[in-house]
Amino acid sequence: MAAKKSTRKFQAEVSRLLHLVVNSLYSNKEIFLRELVSNASDALDKQRLASLKDESLADGEPPLIRIHTDKERNVLIIEDNGIGMSKDELAQNLGTVAHSGTLKFLKEHQGDASLIGQFGVGFYSAFLVADHVTVTSRRAGSEEAWSWSSDAKETYTLEPAERAGRGTTIELKINDEQSEYLDSWRLRALVKQYSDYVTHPIELQKEHWGDDAPTEVEWEQVNSGSPLWVRPAEEIEDDEYRSFYKGLTHDFDDPLVWTHFKVEGRQLFRGLLYVPSKAPHDLFQRDHRRGVRLFVKNVFILEDAEELVPVWLRFVRGVIDSDDLPLNVSREMLQDGAITRTIRKQVIKKALDRLKQLAAAEGDDYTSFWTTFGAVLKEGMHLDHENKDRIAPLLRYRSTHGEGWTGLSEYVERMPEGQKAIYYVIGESQAAVAGSPHLEALTKRGYEVLFMTDAIDEWAVEALRTFEDKPLVSAMKADLDLEESDEDKAKMEVASGELEGLVERIKSVLGEAVADVRLSSRLTDSPACLVVPEGGQHAYLERLLRSQDKDAARTRRILEINPDHALVRNMNQLHGLQPESERLTEWVELLYDQVLLTEGSPVEDPNRLARRMTSLLQQASAAELTAAG
Ligand code: ADP
Repeated sequence: MAAKKSTRKFQAEVSRLLHLVVNSLYSNKEIFLRELVSNASDALDKQRLASLKDESLADGEPPLIRIHTDKERNVLIIEDNGIGMSKDELAQNLGTVAHSGTLKFLKEHQGDASLIGQFGVGFYSAFLVADHVTVTSRRAGSEEAWSWSSDAKETYTLEPAERAGRGTTIELKINDEQSEYLDSWRLRALVKQYSDYVTHPIELQKEHWGDDAPTEVEWEQVNSGSPLWVRPAEEIEDDEYRSFYKGLTHDFDDPLVWTHFKVEGRQLFRGLLYVPSKAPHDLFQRDHRRGVRLFVKNVFILEDAEELVPVWLRFVRGVIDSDDLPLNVSREMLQDGAITRTIRKQVIKKALDRLKQLAAAEGDDYTSFWTTFGAVLKEGMHLDHENKDRIAPLLRYRSTHGEGWTGLSEYVERMPEGQKAIYYVIGESQAAVAGSPHLEALTKRGYEVLFMTDAIDEWAVEALRTFEDKPLVSAMKADLDLEESDEDKAKMEVASGELEGLVERIKSVLGEAVADVRLSSRLTDSPACLVVPEGGQHAYLERLLRSQDKDAARTRRILEINPDHALVRNMNQLHGLQPESERLTEWVELLYDQVLLTEGSPVEDPNRLARRMTSLLQQASAAELTAAG
């Protein structure tokens, strides 16, 4: 039975996506050409790779992208002799949304055109300028061609078609208001602007005026086609770097910085690496896929060569072009090769060098980098021991020093005489840690304290241990080891005798909830705080881990009380008078709950806490009234 025309419904997501694309990109219509040319170029790359693996597909036909128009029918035609699509592939690729997260994200960021290129929605941009699109394709190695067509409403049709040779032809029925896209000057300018560095030739049909139209159709290559990265850096203008980046990444924004290098020696390779100015939406998702493209001798090999870039530099985009890898290199071969290791090492070095330069330069660019990608870079401290000392000078934190970010070197420069360590606190936000009781003794001595508020900080700082020979010490850990005057030591001794009974009482009230109760020399204004025993985790990290795994290990922390605080003294007195007082038990529990709250941890029984607060407030207000007469 002969194959017939069939009409199919778009996957519901596609209809919505089409709607979103058309609505959010209406002021950026012209990008459709870049998207379609880029798909054609990808198809040519795929064809080349496929023919390397399967000789029967190698027919010697040179790769080509052609653009022409049929003005009588208002049709713009884009053709390639790439890998093509089978009937099923047409339905799959152009009738469904490949990535489940795409739609959700697009919805949340309606109108932000700059993000659209990050998704597999490129093809649908055809409907920005066309009422009707027909895609005729013949898969390499197949005898049959199929045609897909749609007006982007609810359905598309598939029917058998004719096509000489492999590849894809896209016909766009340009709508009346968009007739500029039938003008060859306009098309030429767009190819130049957006697709100049596409490595395959892009040809436009020559237009002839008057009666001397030749009988043969003439074609003219419009793109320069030579890869930017092989040219010497001195000869390349900044604008060329920027437009190459946009073509490569489909990002609408300029990159923040780039580095272009050639490594010679035992191996030869070139790299052009960029740091984007904005973070992609999935930067912290496990399946994040961007990274750098691998070329071998100017020939495209792989998208997202994650073997060449460590995960903590996953925000870096660009290309690596190796002269030494074989053309048929596979991911498996890359995974553990000596060449991979050398390239990776250089990629890290070049990227970090560039960031160091950026950090040293005047202006806000480094801050902008840091706020966008700093938390990713910090992962390197934990994951890459070999490079942690290279990353450390790039770290930035907020601190008690004031507004703005500080690096560790600046911190060390500011350290007053007598300060031996670099101090930090860990919590979920600057607001949460800036008022932390743990800062009190340090700020009293004039010591600066760094605020660490990223989930990765605890691991990063543990990996670092020291910076410029100064140990990094958490102000929240038990062993703070601050130098104390003889006078202070003597005072503490006296206090510990006086408060012994209260300390024991608190221990018996709190029982297993804490590891220990002891007097503190780190507090000035607060009555108490919790500190982390040696080897334990900070409360913030523990909360994070427990939010993912309820059974994650729990560190029992040490309750420290301030011997000089009036509340502590009053409690001690009450304990002296009525050792069995029920009230005292309540106050101890209340104090403990309050300490949990200041560090952002949940209290075990919020209702009990509320009841006790109410009862205390009631008493206090009654006393106030009595005093007011
Ligand atoms: P993306 O290119 O980001 O994956 P598109 O919507 O642009 O998303 O295209 C969807 C898929 O359709 C592509 O991944 C590719 O497999 C296929 N495709 C699009 N254009 C062509 C073409 N000219 N030749 C072969 N396949 C194509």
